[in-house]
Amino acid sequence: MKLQNSCTPITFIKTRFLPFSHTTCTKTIVTNSVDATIVKTGFNPNTSHTNFQLNHLVTKGKLAQAHQLFDQMPHRNTYSLNTLISGYVKVGNLDRARELFDEMSVRTVVSWTILIGGYSQHNQPLGAFKLYAEMCRWGTVPDYVTFATLLPCCDETVMTETLTQVHSHIVKLGFDWTLMVCNSLVDAYCKIGSLDLASRLFMEMMVKDSVTFNAMITGYSNNGLNNQAINLFLEMQHWGIRPSEFTFAAVLCACMGLNDVLLGQQFHSLVIKSNFVWNVFVSNAFLDFYSKHDSIDDAKRLFDEMMLLDCVSYNVIITGFVWAGKLEEALNLFRELQWTDFNRKQFPFATMLSLAATETNLKLGKQIHAQALVTEANLDVLAGNALVDMYAKCDRFEEANVIFASLPHGSSVPWTALISAYVQKGVYDEALQLFKQMRKAYVYGDQATFASTLRASANLTSLSLGKQLHSAMITLGCMSNVFCGSSLLDMYAKCGYIKDAIQVFKEMPIRNIVSWNALISAYAQEGDGEATLRTFEELVKSGHKPDSVSFLGVLTACSHRGLVEEGLAHFKSMTETYKLDVKREHYASMIDLLCRCGQFGEAEKLMNEMAFEPDEIMLSSILRSCRVHKNQDLAKRAADALFNMEVLRDAAPYVNMSNIYAEAGQWEDVSKVKKAMKDRGVKKVTAYSWVEVNHNVHVFTANDRTHPQIEDIRKKIGLLWRKMEEEGYKPDTSVILQNVNEEVKVESLKYHSERLAIAFALINTPERSPIVVMKNLRACVDCHAAIKIISKIVGRDIIVRDSSRFHHFRDGCCSCGDYW
Ligand SMILES: [Zn+2]
Ligand SMILES: [Zn+2]
Repeated sequence: MKLQNSCTPITFIKTRFLPFSHTTCTKTIVTNSVDATIVKTGFNPNTSHTNFQLNHLVTKGKLAQAHQLFDQMPHRNTYSLNTLISGYVKVGNLDRARELFDEMSVRTVVSWTILIGGYSQHNQPLGAFKLYAEMCRWGTVPDYVTFATLLPCCDETVMTETLTQVHSHIVKLGFDWTLMVCNSLVDAYCKIGSLDLASRLFMEMMVKDSVTFNAMITGYSNNGLNNQAINLFLEMQHWGIRPSEFTFAAVLCACMGLNDVLLGQQFHSLVIKSNFVWNVFVSNAFLDFYSKHDSIDDAKRLFDEMMLLDCVSYNVIITGFVWAGKLEEALNLFRELQWTDFNRKQFPFATMLSLAATETNLKLGKQIHAQALVTEANLDVLAGNALVDMYAKCDRFEEANVIFASLPHGSSVPWTALISAYVQKGVYDEALQLFKQMRKAYVYGDQATFASTLRASANLTSLSLGKQLHSAMITLGCMSNVFCGSSLLDMYAKCGYIKDAIQVFKEMPIRNIVSWNALISAYAQEGDGEATLRTFEELVKSGHKPDSVSFLGVLTACSHRGLVEEGLAHFKSMTETYKLDVKREHYASMIDLLCRCGQFGEAEKLMNEMAFEPDEIMLSSILRSCRVHKNQDLAKRAADALFNMEVLRDAAPYVNMSNIYAEAGQWEDVSKVKKAMKDRGVKKVTAYSWVEVNHNVHVFTANDRTHPQIEDIRKKIGLLWRKMEEEGYKPDTSVILQNVNEEVKVESLKYHSERLAIAFALINTPERSPIVVMKNLRACVDCHAAIKIISKIVGRDIIVRDSSRFHHFRDGCCSCGDYW
């Protein structure tokens, strides 16, 4: 064996010369004349034969065997190495491919192109372009295949300058006359978003085929220039170039962007005429089109007519049904899919899991999980995220956490799924903890993460966290997102910072109905009836259609302000002008409004009109108003209905009713109510208030003695008490139901949770700074009166959000005008 292929590096011969039986046996057959030819041409039949075997193994995907054979080869040439490199490229082991490549002493343009193709196929455009530059530095001249391999990997990470440099290289080498290269270049310019350069090149091209047009049409439609896409399609017809399935898919994408169902249908008939209707790729695009345009029935008809179906068709139609809320149909098709022999890994597991999640159907969810496990589809990131979401929504946080732990955490999607599930279930603490962990793991949230986390901090009224989220949103550029903006507005409003909430609204570049509703309910919570109604008018003027949430805000505001006429007019317009369904909450607000104003007859009439039984909230609000307006007859009926309820959450109605009897001097009835309350075992819901000081939330219950500063707090309350009495404050002990003497009653009033929170804040915050206190229940009448006087004594703004609304206390008055 004295011969070596001209391409085979000497080092290989020196280092490895293993016994190679195949070679030795064929050696004898080789005649002298062949030997001579080999000497002349450098052709080695043995190497060539083994290369053939090597190629065969690589094509079959037997990479380990291929590598073994490669190691045993006494003589390798560039072809052998190229073959093995392409094998590693195919399985995505680019590092190993690169190692082999680096070992080559002679690299041809083919070797470079194979490796460039590796980076290109595995979506590493920067690696591909870097390698291309290296190739040019080494002096290897690229051929047209190199360009056709390099260019398709372009995405938005590739700079325009890089691409124009490659373009000029192409021109220099004369490949600008090669259609294939030009087509790739048009496509590449489109993909990096340089549509002007793409269309200029497109215009300059003397020869075009359907690929050229497809690239340009797709480019236009992907970049939202849908009209241009459709015009170009018409021009293509004019040129007499036959559209391909990709053309139709791209044009349909443009129709989708234009939201033009009619145009889509026209294209559909064109597709039928051009006999492309049998093409499953095109049909799937139409399925997608119809299901995304509320025409799921049309989609189903097309699906039934399709001669050839693939897994994508099933995916599209099942997703369409889920989106249209036709869950039974989706489930049936999924069952049908099980009988096909399509690749199970491509089944719409994620979609089906999201169905189980929205239905909170744990049984279905578990069945799908089991199926996904069998096919290992649960390893797919989408399905994994959907699993977390499903278990969390079905209240199985343990399972959700286990799956969450097994997922790759690089993206914010699984984090967001779990965070938003916690928020939906009202487990705000966990949600915030998880968010903090996520930030520690250097995962930056997306808009959905912020919207969920803001909701958590709004409900915990953690302003400091809300502000942190606000600054993170500015850094990450999420501020223009309408949902994030609306959540931010809501957070500021719920924390009692209405001015900041309004500022956020003003700065929003785009507003939708969610943002308008957030502002309306912010004003309504403030009890600012005028601003609420004004905002509602502005909303109507802005061209958005008010929805049931907008009306709920308006009616709440009317009831806080006692605006009967306005309330009635809006209530009527809900059905008459806006054709909206009147829900329970709307009735509750309206009944509350009427009762507060003493219009009990109207309220009863409305209650009889509605399609559902009056609930606890309605009856309680009637009872409250009856006490104010001394309507004992209705109060008794409301109380009877309330006391007969299966579950009565709150003791407040008992308290109200016994007070009504007490005020009328009917002591016998008072004791009856008390006995009923005792018999039923109704306990008062524990009232608690909380206040945020120096980024920490401090929670207080009534008569709390657990706080480390409790002695100072009680001293402060005692000091205030004396000053309050000087101002003419008299404790109203009627709010306390226990049968104890007056002195004990006054003592217990002193330490209601909101007063403890306020006293704590007075000690620990600078003079004149406002105090924001939250309470889980309604503030009692006595606390309301007390806080009014306290605000005057200390000269501070005190904001209390109780379960019904905000009270802004300033200089002895409250924003609610004692009407709440
Ligand atoms: Zn109180
Ligand atoms: Zn008030």
